[in-house]
Amino acid sequence: MKDQLIIFDTTLRDGEQSPGASMTKDEKVRIAKSLERMRVDIIEAGFPIASIGDFESVQAVAKAVKDSRICGLARALDKDIDRAGEALKPANASRIHTFIATSPIHMQMKLRMQPDEVVENAVKAVKRARQYTDDVEFSPEDAGRSDLDFLCRVLEAVIDAGAKTLNIPDTVGYNLPHQFGELIKNLRESIPNSDKAIFSVHCHNDLGLAVANSLSAVMNGARQVECTINGLGERAGNASLEEVVMAVRTRQDMFDCDTRLDTTQILTASRLVSGITGFVVQPNKAIVGANAFAHESGIHQDGVLKNRETYEIMRAEDVGWNTNRMVLGKHSGRNAFRSRLKELGIELESEEDLNSAFTRFKELADKKHEVFDEDIQALVSDTLTEDNERIRLISMRVCSETGEIPVANVTLAVDDNEVKTEMKGSGPVDAAFKAIESMVQSHTELQLYSVSNITSGTDSQGEVSVRLEKGGRIVSGQGTDTDIVIASAKAYINALNKMLLPADRAHPQV
Ligand SMILES: [Zn+2]
Repeated sequence: MKDQLIIFDTTLRDGEQSPGASMTKDEKVRIAKSLERMRVDIIEAGFPIASIGDFESVQAVAKAVKDSRICGLARALDKDIDRAGEALKPANASRIHTFIATSPIHMQMKLRMQPDEVVENAVKAVKRARQYTDDVEFSPEDAGRSDLDFLCRVLEAVIDAGAKTLNIPDTVGYNLPHQFGELIKNLRESIPNSDKAIFSVHCHNDLGLAVANSLSAVMNGARQVECTINGLGERAGNASLEEVVMAVRTRQDMFDCDTRLDTTQILTASRLVSGITGFVVQPNKAIVGANAFAHESGIHQDGVLKNRETYEIMRAEDVGWNTNRMVLGKHSGRNAFRSRLKELGIELESEEDLNSAFTRFKELADKKHEVFDEDIQALVSDTLTEDNERIRLISMRVCSETGEIPVANVTLAVDDNEVKTEMKGSGPVDAAFKAIESMVQSHTELQLYSVSNITSGTDSQGEVSVRLEKGGRIVSGQGTDTDIVIASAKAYINALNKMLLPADRAHPQV
C-alpha cells in the first residue's frame, strides 16, 4: 500500500493575497465547493483575523463544505488563534495553521524576540490552537534562512505541544530542488520525535521551481504539499496543484505515494479560478493551458499515428478536457438549467437568484446556439456579483465607424440614482470607459485590460478582465457578454465596485 500524499490547497488564502486576486465571500464558497468535488484534503480558506470579511468568508466556507477539512491561518498570537477557532466552528473537520518566523533576521527585525521567546511563543500558540481542534499545523516562517539546529529545536518542541503537521515554507522561492529535498530529509532525521508529525512543504515560484521543489520534498518524505489552482499566489505564485498532482499520478513508478484527488475536476476548477480572479491561464501552461493537449486533434485527423501513447503521457480526459461537453440551448427549460447548475456544483441560495440566472441564460441562448458549462459559470458569476453592486450598468450605446470618432452613451445606476453621459474616445472601449469614469470620478489607473473568448466560435462570449490601481491598492474586475464592448464596460464597473469596498485587512506576514 502506498502512502497518501495530502493535498492542502491555499488558493483562497495565499492565492487570494496576490495583488488584484481578491475574492468575495460567495466567490470563495464557489471555489471551495469545486475543490471539495475534486476531493482536495484540506482547504485553507483564509486568515480570519485579517478583517470581518475574511472572518465571514472562512465561516461561510466552513459551513458550505463537508467533505474537505477547512483550515484557518493564525499568527502565533492568542487573538489570531481565537479568531480562527471561532470562524472554523461550523466545520465538519477543522485545522488551525499557526506560524512564527525562525530566521535570525525576522526574529530580530520583525518580532524583536530572542530565540528562546520564539520557541516559547510557538509552543504556546500550538497549545492554544489545540483547545479548538486536534488538527494543528505549524510553520516556521522563513525556514530557508533559519539556523538548522534552531529549526530542529522549535519543531521538536511544537510536536511535543501537539502539532500534527509541520510545514516547511520556501517563502521567497530561493531553494533548488536537491537542496530543498535535502532539508526535508535532514529535518526528518535530526528531530527525535519527527515520526509523530507529517512533513509538509509550501514553495513559491520565483525561480519557476515551486513544483520541482515540492516534488523533491515528497521524494524525501514530505507527505503534504501546499499548492494553489493555476499556481495563483503572491509574486510568481505558489506550486500549482494540477502540476503537482499530475506529476505524482503520471510518474507512479517514481513515487511511493499518491493523492486521492478526482483529477477530472481539474479543468473546471482552473477555469473557475481564472474567471473569478481575472488571472488568465497562459495557453502553454502545463495541464490546464489551452494548448496543453493540442496535439490531440492532429493525431485523430491524419490517422498517421496508430497509438496515442506514443506522444501522450497523460490522457486529456483525465484532467477534465473533452468531458462535460453537455450543451444547453434555447429550448432547454428551467429544470434542465437547474440540474446543470447542480452538476456544476453551483448552489444559488435564493429562488430569486435562480430566476435571474435563468433569465440571463435564456437571453444568452437566444444570441448563441449552444450554451456550454463555461458560459454557465460566467453567467452565474455575473448574476451574483451585479445584484449587490453600488454601480450598475443600465444601458449603453456605442457607435464605431470608419473615419469617425467612436462615441459611447452610457447610463448607470449609482447607489440607485440614474446618471447618463456621452463621451468620445479613440475606440469604442476607450469611449465607454471615459463615459463611465466621468460619472464615477474614481481617479483610478487602468493597469491591465484583456479580452478572451470563453468557448470557440465568433458567437462565443467575450470575457474581459480589467485591473485598476489607486494609491497602491489593486483590484480586478471581470465581465462577460457576447458583445465585447459591453463585456468591457461590465468588467470596468465590476472593478470600480470592488474599489469601493473597504480595504483595511491585515496581511499575515507584515
Ligand atoms: Zn506563501
